[in-house]
Formats: sequence, structure tokens, C-alpha cells
Amino acid sequence: MPLAPPNPSPGKTRAIPLLLLAALGTCFCIGTAGWLHYAAAARLNQSRDWVEHSQNVLFTLQSLGQRVDRIEAALRIYRLNPSTAELRLASSNQVSFNTDVLHLRSLVQDNPRQSAQLASLSTCSSSLGQLIGNADQDMHLLIPDVQQCREVLATLVEVEREMLENRTETTRRGAAHSLELSVVVTSLSIAVVLTLFGFLLRDTIRRRRDEFQLYEANEKLASTIRALERQMRESSLVTSFRDELQLCVKPLQTQQCAARYFEQLMPGTSGSIHIINNSRHVAESTASWGSSTAALESFPLDACCGLRSGRPRWRRPARSEVHCSHFNGTPPECYLCLPLAAYGDTLGSLYIECSSTGIAAMVDAKMSRLQELVELTSISIAGLNLRSRLEHQSIRDSLTGLFNRHFMEIALDREIGRALRQQKSVAILMLDLDHFKQFNDTYGHEAGDVVLREIASALRDSVRSEDILCRYGGEELVAIMPELSLEAAMDRAEFLRDVVSNIHIRNRGEILRDVSMSVGVAIYPQHGERAEDVMRAADRALYEAKHRGRNRVIAAEALLLS
Ligand code: GH3
Ligand code: MG
Ligand code: MG
Repeated sequence: MPLAPPNPSPGKTRAIPLLLLAALGTCFCIGTAGWLHYAAAARLNQSRDWVEHSQNVLFTLQSLGQRVDRIEAALRIYRLNPSTAELRLASSNQVSFNTDVLHLRSLVQDNPRQSAQLASLSTCSSSLGQLIGNADQDMHLLIPDVQQCREVLATLVEVEREMLENRTETTRRGAAHSLELSVVVTSLSIAVVLTLFGFLLRDTIRRRRDEFQLYEANEKLASTIRALERQMRESSLVTSFRDELQLCVKPLQTQQCAARYFEQLMPGTSGSIHIINNSRHVAESTASWGSSTAALESFPLDACCGLRSGRPRWRRPARSEVHCSHFNGTPPECYLCLPLAAYGDTLGSLYIECSSTGIAAMVDAKMSRLQELVELTSISIAGLNLRSRLEHQSIRDSLTGLFNRHFMEIALDREIGRALRQQKSVAILMLDLDHFKQFNDTYGHEAGDVVLREIASALRDSVRSEDILCRYGGEELVAIMPELSLEAAMDRAEFLRDVVSNIHIRNRGEILRDVSMSVGVAIYPQHGERAEDVMRAADRALYEAKHRGRNRVIAAEALLLS
């Protein structure tokens, strides 16, 4: 059976948005961190450029200072020792000075404060030019101009140093700020990513738990379905067993049918049904299934623990160790004995042999169904037993066990009908004990009953299986003997009379006197076309036998002849 898809849990529905959020959050954090790092690096680069710029300016100023020193030194040497080489050196330094001033101008043109100082520096440059031109003049004229150049350069260096310090400080602060920002942004990114992945992890754990619960629920459902299917199979087995029991008319049929169903209910087992015999001393095997069992074919009732206790009884190792004693050789390890009982009467027992503990567990799991089958079997056997008893009682005489008069009339009609169809004869023997009233008077009614029972038993043993011996009433019997001629019937009657004459009975230690019997014989269709005509003829013959002195056989024909 397909399972319905389970309702998605809230945790599950949030998983995909959370994943998307985590991905977006991660991208955003990484992007932001990257952008911030880029901005900080750009700022740092810019600061470093400005620092480099200041250093360039300072370098140029230093170079200018050196030019001034060299010009002064060249002019001083010239004064002491005038030579053109010194003048050329001073002139070339002055040219370089001018070049450096131009270079410095291009460097500081965006800085109004330095640009203003550069004008003074240009003045210095022309003063130095004039000094070189007037190199032969007094040395005292040289010192103020050089000194002024130096002061201008010192001012420019001071201003540039101040700016360099500021720029260096700005760069340092920018680097520190960038580092802090980087740490904060990275920490924040990690926190955001960790939080989002924490949610995702929590969701995944919840989903795993939900999936496990769903798996467990599915397993439970599947096992419930399997149990229901098994119950349905067992239930239909019980139903078809009940139907089949309706078709059984003999207890043996019921037992054999039950054995088949026990095998279907408990595959892998073997077993047998034992029914208590009429004398109620032994239980005899009547039906079995599976491979042959170790149980005896018949055993005394106290040999079975199940029969003794009146309850189902398992014999299993380490559970209940006591063995029944209905085995041929070594008893098996695992077996179950259930008494078959109905209407307060124990009918027998059911023996189930299990070849392994696994099979025993399977039988144990089906115990209620098994007991249902056992109950149905017991009720069916008891019902058929009762029916058989009632049938027996309805057609048999209770004292002698012979057929009763009602059955005799039906049987006589049936036999005459058959004889008519087959063109055969039927002999009717009417038998009556002689002076039986007198016998009763002498020994009592109870002794008379004993004699009647004994004579009936002896006569039953002396007729053929197809003959029907009935108690017609009192001490009067009728034998219906199909397909006998008059001569043969006379011989049989004489034989029966002789049997009765030779019966010697003791009752309560007392030897009773022998009893004789008179017999009247008539033949269908010889002495009558209808049953009552033949019966009347036999009765008349019996009457004649009595009349002629009893203890004899008279044929109806003889009556007609006399
Ligand atoms: P007869 O030779 O003429 O047949 O004499 P009888 O005494 O046998 O015949 P009767 O018809 O006078 O008596 C039948 C006797 O059979 C009467 C009764 O006491 C006895 N009888 C009938 N049924 C039973 C029975 O079930 N048990 C016993 N003990 N006696 C019975
Ligand atoms: Mg009699
Ligand atoms: Mg009689």
C-alpha cells in the first residue's frame, strides 16, 4: 500500500530560504569586506604618494642647499686662488640650482604656502648669479646673499617637514583605521556567516530528526500493515476452516481437515491429533501433518502434560523442562500439547512439534488463532459425536443395542423394494423367547434384562452383516435376511435357535436356567406381496411354533400345508 507523503515540517520549508539567505549574506559580507579593504588600500596609496611627494620636495631642497654650499665654497676658493675652473664649477652649480628651483616649482605648484616661498628662492637664484658675476668683489658682499638663500631653503624645509609629519601621521592613522575596519568587518562577516550557517545547521539537524521520526513512523505503519495482512490471512483461514467443518459428517473427517489447516497456519511444524478412545484409557492418533513426529500412535492419558493440566502446555529448553512421556525414543526439544475439549468434555489432545526455537516463537505468536482452530475442531468433533449418539439412540434399542421397531419397518420396506427391483427374495424371521414371563418371575426383571442383552449380542454375532436384527417388542425379535430362500432361511433360523439354546448365563453368582426360543419364518414374495403380509405370515408361523410346544422353527409354508 503506498504511503501518503507527510506534511512538510516548518523547519523543512525554511531550509531553502535560509540557504539562499546564507549565500547572499556571505556574498554581501565578502563584498563589503573587499570594498572596504580596497578603499583603505586606495587611501593608503594616496597617503604614501603624498609622503613620497614631500620626500621628493625635501630631497630637492636638500639638493638646493648643497648647490648653495658648493657655490659658496667655489667662490671662496676662487678668492683665495682665482682660477676659471672654480668659476665654472660655481656657474654650473648655479645652473643646476636654477633647474632644481624649476623642478621644485613644479612639485609645489598646488601648495600656495610653498609657492609663495618659491618667489624668494627665485630672488636667491638671481642673487647667486650676480655673486658669481662679481666674483672678484669683497667677500663680505657674498655672505648676506648666501645666508638669505639658506634661510629661504630652511623655511621651505621646515614647512615641508611639517607637511611630511602631517602626511606620515595621516598615513599611519589611515593604516590603523584600515586595520581596525578590516578586523571589524572580517569579524562581522564571520559572525554573520556563522549565524546563518548556525541556522542552517540547526535546520539540518531538525530535518534529520524529523526524517528519523518519519522513518520510525513509516516503519511502525509498515509493521502494522504487515500484522493486519497476517491477521486477515489467518482470519480467512479460520473462515474457510469453519466452512469446511460444515461439510464433515464424521469426527475422523473433522480431525483430518483440522490437521490440514493446522499445517497451513503453522508452516514448518509437524504434529498429530490424538482422540481419547471409548474406554477413556488411551489417546489414539487419528490425523497428522508434516514429517513424522516423535509422538507415540497411542498413549495413556496421564502421559501428556497438556491433558493432565487441561491447558496448553509448552515444553521448551530453559522455560519448562518437564517432558511428556508419549514419545518413541528421545523427546524433541520444543513442542506444544493442547487439550481438545468441548462442552466440559475432554476429547483428546493436539501435539505440535517445532524443529527450532524460531518456529516455536512463530507458533507462540499465532497462539490465539491456534486456540480458535482448536476450539472449532473440538466443538465440531463433540457435535458429530453427539449427532452419532443421537442417531444411534433414534434407531437402536437401548437395552439390547439392536435396531428398534421403527427402524425395522423402514428397513423392511427398503429391502422388499430392492428385492422387487432385483427379483430377489427376503426372509423374515420372527423370534420369541419361550416362557420369558415365567423367567422374570423366577429370577427378577434385572436378570431378565441381562439375559435379553446376552441373547441379543449372541444373535447379532451369528447373523450376516447384511442381515438386520431388530427388537420388535418385549422379548420378541425380528431378523430381516435379504436374498435367502425358504430352505436357507429355515437353516439360519434353526442355527439361531440353537445358539440361544446353548447360552448359559450367570447373574450375581447365580446360574440361570437356559432359555429357549421359537421362530416363525416367512419369505417375500412367497408368503405375501407386501411387507405387512409377510410379517403377518411370519407371526402366524411363530404362533404355530408356540402352539406346537415351543423351542422350534416353523415356516409359514408349513402352516399353510398343515
Ligand atoms: P410365551 O412362551 O408364550 O412367549 O410366554 P411368555 O411368558 O414369554 O410370553 P408373554 O407374552 O406372556 O410374556 C412376555 C414377557 O416378557 C412379559 C415380560 O415380563 C417379559 N418382558 C418383556 N419385555 C421385557 C424386558 O424388557 N425385560 C424383562 N426382564 N422382561 C421383559
Ligand atoms: Mg415369549
Ligand atoms: Mg412375546
